[in-house]
Amino acid sequence: MSSAPRAIDVLIVGGGPTGLAAANALGQVGVEVLLVEQDPSFAELPRAVSVDDEAMRLMQSLGLSNAARQVALPGTGTKFFGARGQLLVYGQGPDRMPFGHPVKNLIDHPSFQRVLLDGLKRFPNVTVRYATRFEHFEQDVDGVTAQIAGDDGVEEFKCDYLIGADGGRSRIRQAIGQEPMAGSAFNERWLVLDTINDQHDERFAMHHGCPRRPRVVIVGRDGRCRYEFLVHDDEQIEHDDLVGFATRLVAPYRTLEPADVVRCTIYRFYALVAREFSQGRVFLAGDAAHMMPPFAGQGLNSGLRDAANLSWKLAAVLNGSAGSELLSTYTAERQPHVSAMVRLSVRMGAVMMTRHRGRAWIRDFAFAVSKRLPLAGRFFGEMRFKPEPRYTEGFLVGRSESRGPIGAMAVQPRVLTSAGSFAWLDDEIGPGFGLLALDTDSEAFARLRSPIWERLNVVKIHIALDDRLPARVEDAAALADADGLLADQLGSLRGKFVLVRPDRYVAAAFAPDRESEVADRLAALLGIPLTVGEEVTS
Ligand SMILES: Cc1cc2nc3c(=O)[nH]c(=O)nc-3n(C[C@H](O)[C@H](O)[C@H](O)COP(=O)(O)OP(=O)(O)OC[C@H]3O[C@@H](n4cnc5c(N)ncnc54)[C@H](O)[C@@H]3O)c2cc1C
Repeated sequence: MSSAPRAIDVLIVGGGPTGLAAANALGQVGVEVLLVEQDPSFAELPRAVSVDDEAMRLMQSLGLSNAARQVALPGTGTKFFGARGQLLVYGQGPDRMPFGHPVKNLIDHPSFQRVLLDGLKRFPNVTVRYATRFEHFEQDVDGVTAQIAGDDGVEEFKCDYLIGADGGRSRIRQAIGQEPMAGSAFNERWLVLDTINDQHDERFAMHHGCPRRPRVVIVGRDGRCRYEFLVHDDEQIEHDDLVGFATRLVAPYRTLEPADVVRCTIYRFYALVAREFSQGRVFLAGDAAHMMPPFAGQGLNSGLRDAANLSWKLAAVLNGSAGSELLSTYTAERQPHVSAMVRLSVRMGAVMMTRHRGRAWIRDFAFAVSKRLPLAGRFFGEMRFKPEPRYTEGFLVGRSESRGPIGAMAVQPRVLTSAGSFAWLDDEIGPGFGLLALDTDSEAFARLRSPIWERLNVVKIHIALDDRLPARVEDAAALADADGLLADQLGSLRGKFVLVRPDRYVAAAFAPDRESEVADRLAALLGIPLTVGEEVTS
């Protein structure tokens, strides 16, 4: 072991999608990152099969939109079938794309993960080491000292922060005393089979709620297909017979040649959430912090949300625009949201994939009735059962009310730029904070007084919410809401400012005369008291 530990800003343990996303998010804002992965090379085994619109929006913010689109099948839905094979509901998501991307996108997990890995090549400040295992850490007020073991033996690194994105069996979770997690094993075994050369051509996933053998068929790109079958408690499958067992189950759909099997395995799913996602300078993200059955397809998505949430906060603390108080909002924001996702996943498994014939009959009857009720039809058809991206406490100024803008993820419209072309709002904001002036006069930004906006390095943007051209202003960008999406979400805030966080949640909305009150509150949340000497003078 070398005598003086090497120094780094952030050590990330785990080269799965969560760790790689966090490395990209930190890398693009200049943070020095070391990511270690114990496996000798990139994992080629698929697990997740779909990502949602929030995930694709994160890829966009990481500058990886085009690459992600090339490995995704966009705009797919899910058909849920009942006990007799009848269609219960077709979940397709809303007609409009509130976040600028299709609500459901099928992916090949390794290809998607590779996009994230390749994205890191852009950042000389990010180092990735395979075949390198995290062993141990100690932390004090000054930082974390971590030991990692690779080909060159054991090395010590000193870092400001450690992210444990080390998956469901996280050592880091154990080390920070978050074992056991809250929740339980989802007491079912499922056979998961990934194939190629498949003839399916449906542009939707199929969940078959047949109580004899609930199953899921998810058609991917380029002849790929995922099959998941419930394994009965009394079915004992020898390892050598796994593919034979899968061949029998998949027979109604296709013949299976050994060369067509990409992965065949049996999973027992879990529904678990850590009570705290951090201790001091150590943070959990992704499966290390939570695990859920895959029926809502939200495990990877939730890990990406963790990465997006945590990264901007760590970067803000490291670059001095926030104090460490900000970091306490990570658990406060992410834990309740991901707990809601876990509950949804368990409920979907229990209802749609039930083995109980009586419950399956009641479910099918309820869906048949709900088809006649337009509101219920929209609820299921537009997949409104998925918890919306919204935080109720954390880095927010003001109350987060159920339909109000504070704490909600801001929509992403196409905008008309002052140069007369279309763009996406997020691309205009960039990776940091955006301060949007909604239908204000052109002097609105010039009248702002607080130094907090410089501290947060906000991108100032005038937005015309109606069908006028973008304003002509000198001190800010000017855009017009081309889709009307912003007007729908934030139309009640005309004449006001809206602060959008780097992870695209609305942190504050205020009339110009409330600037100083909101700035004080933001400064308190950031842990950076604004002194009089810092005030901007006109
Ligand atoms: C059958 C199935 C279907 C799924 N479908 C979906 C879906 O459709 N949509 C969705 O969103 N999610 C889905 N999921 C969930 C999703 O796959 C996971 O939530 C996601 O892959 C977790 O990513 P992660 O980066 O947090 O963890 P992981 O991918 O598990 O990565 C953790 C990494 O840490 C490494 N590691 C562990 N310990 C150490 C150490 N000591 N030192 C160095 N490295 C270490 C591991 O080798 C691993 O590479 C599904 C899961 C399953 C099983």
